[in-house]
Amino acid sequence: MEGVRLNKFHGRVDGSDRPCASQGCEEAGEFRAPGERRPGFDGPGDYRWFCLDHVRAFNAGYDWFEGMSADEILAAQHPVSGWERETRAFSATAGIDQAPRWADFADPLDAIASRARARQPQPRKDGKVLTADQRRALDVLGLGHEADRSEVRRRYSALVRQYHPDRNGGDRSYETRLQQVVEAYQALRQVF
Ligand SMILES: [Zn+2]
Repeated sequence: MEGVRLNKFHGRVDGSDRPCASQGCEEAGEFRAPGERRPGFDGPGDYRWFCLDHVRAFNAGYDWFEGMSADEILAAQHPVSGWERETRAFSATAGIDQAPRWADFADPLDAIASRARARQPQPRKDGKVLTADQRRALDVLGLGHEADRSEVRRRYSALVRQYHPDRNGGDRSYETRLQQVVEAYQALRQVF
């Protein structure tokens, strides 16, 4: 593949003189799409080549999961989900926030108690430990769990303005949302 440059967008390959694989299209086939043969145990799979318009059309209609078993689809959709998540041994917080594995315990009740301890909320970067309610309150305000005092105040006043009936021509349809925002702020006042 000397002289061929891969471009991340749409798998573009410059320097290709292949025609677009779409029937009757005169454009150059500069964009790579999966072929009939998928990557697998038999090898890397093959490709077909389209112009930009036709690779877009192809991507829109392509079923990436066609021919895969339920287990393979699950693995493809959730590469880091479930049990695998507990094996990220090299993360910065490994050994701190990771739940102990079942195999480490002889007594399953010991294991359960230990896992419960591991789920205790961890302190934030600023040392504050938020309760579940306080983390939910940040969710309601649309803020991350490391949000600081000024972010909380700014977001709160912006949302109150946004949802307040006085700002919406007396429209009370945002009342529930406004109430949630006020309650969220109340829950966070003890922290910030
Ligand atoms: Zn084309």
